[in-house]
Amino acid sequence: MAAKTALRIIIVGAGPVGLALATGLAKDGHSVTVLERQSSLQVTGGPIYVQPPAIRVLESFGLGDAVQSIGVAGPSIIWSYKDTSEPLLVSPHRPNHTPLSTDRQTVQKVGYEGAVAAGATVLFGKTVTSLENETTPTVRTEDGGEYSADLIVGADGIKSKIRRLLFPDQNMDAIPTNEVIFHSDVALDELRADTRLTGMFEHPGSCHFTFGPGRVNVLLIEPVAEGKTAAYNVVSNYGAPPTDRNASWYNSAEPSELRELFNDFSARDRAYLEHVKSCNVWRIGTAPETPSWRSSNGRVLLIGDAAHAMVPHAAQGVSQGIESTGVLTHLLRLARPDHLDDVPALTEGFEKLRRPRVEKIANLSQNNLQVRVLPDGPAQEGRDAALRKMGQMPAIEWDKIEMDMSADSNSPQFTKWLTAYDIPLEVERFVKSDLVDIPSS
Ligand SMILES: Cc1cc2nc3c(=O)[nH]c(=O)nc-3n(C[C@H](O)[C@H](O)[C@H](O)COP(=O)(O)OP(=O)(O)OC[C@H]3O[C@@H](n4cnc5c(N)ncnc54)[C@H](O)[C@@H]3O)c2cc1C
Repeated sequence: MAAKTALRIIIVGAGPVGLALATGLAKDGHSVTVLERQSSLQVTGGPIYVQPPAIRVLESFGLGDAVQSIGVAGPSIIWSYKDTSEPLLVSPHRPNHTPLSTDRQTVQKVGYEGAVAAGATVLFGKTVTSLENETTPTVRTEDGGEYSADLIVGADGIKSKIRRLLFPDQNMDAIPTNEVIFHSDVALDELRADTRLTGMFEHPGSCHFTFGPGRVNVLLIEPVAEGKTAAYNVVSNYGAPPTDRNASWYNSAEPSELRELFNDFSARDRAYLEHVKSCNVWRIGTAPETPSWRSSNGRVLLIGDAAHAMVPHAAQGVSQGIESTGVLTHLLRLARPDHLDDVPALTEGFEKLRRPRVEKIANLSQNNLQVRVLPDGPAQEGRDAALRKMGQMPAIEWDKIEMDMSADSNSPQFTKWLTAYDIPLEVERFVKSDLVDIPSS
């Protein structure tokens, strides 16, 4: 057991973040119960990248082999403008610091199997409806269940109930934006057989991003499910979001609407979209600004999208949540036997360490969208010229680059901070600093 004391921990939500956390904590010897409202492990969701620091966390939880078997590593990203046939930039990922291209269901399944194997209990059909936090943190479920713990972690996603229960006097609803993303599965053999798309397959494992005013076309050419790949079509200003807070943010849509919205894109992109037989449209949102990620007594904590849902334009939502599971697992190792009072100090430390990184990355995601959907004109031409120039730069000597979170977001220093961030090292430095009063023995 890596932890000094076995805490009783309840995790609300069996999404990719809740299940990764359950694996890490159960492996450390904590007694972990996950409460999930769905009746089984089922999710909506499409392809995702899992970023290198998150992959390392999953490896540290013993999920390395499972994770490597589920995705394609080494894709490059090919950036184009909507009606240019030549790419603006082919940007290869850095060797050994490459995201894994997979899908959300698969990450969730790996987490579920890991959590159960590590000894966590995952209970389905358990919708958490109330939280009591005066003395021992306790949640109640719709079916009359009552669960108490030393620590309750809300990993219940962007529309988090735990977040709303923690701050009942404030509006803690998720914030829908004007942006939507169409998500479609496409049969890979059909794409391969279409000679208009041959050029796309010259870079195996690549992801093709095409910019247009107010829109981005993201086309994958690698399998993300059996025999299928996927397209994401971003429309930055689709119209006002639904006012009903219970309205679904993921609904079926007509492929004809999607094709119409992208009918001024290149012949290649239009040819790809001809293969879309059905699609869904996803309203994009963010978490509200929370006064804190934790209760005032420090024994209820938010993690993942419940704490910091961000727009998906840095492909970092799951990864930031998984990074957080690594940090929390490390910090809880410091809780001393018979010292429940250590838990608040550790959750305070968790928030102090995590917030600056997550907020920086959420801003990056937002900025990426603004840059990608620029209207035609001087700013768009400047962006495209800058991308072309990047392709002519000499190869970066990564070993000589120092990571720097304050550097320009296009700089190698910032990229290194994104990809080479080392969680055990960061936690160790943080614990030694005087930023927070964390138990030392
Ligand atoms: C179009 C799109 C593309 C994306 N691409 C990427 C990408 O490339 N890389 C990346 O890292 N991220 C990406 N993301 C973000 C990513 O999908 C989310 O960040 C991630 O799913 C969050 O995981 P989570 O476990 O925190 O929450 P969720 O996946 O939302 O899971 C929450 C769980 O809690 C359960 N739950 C909710 N309420 C209750 C309750 N009251 N009681 C019990 N259980 C409850 C839910 O049923 C669910 O199972 C993308 C998102 C979108 C929309």
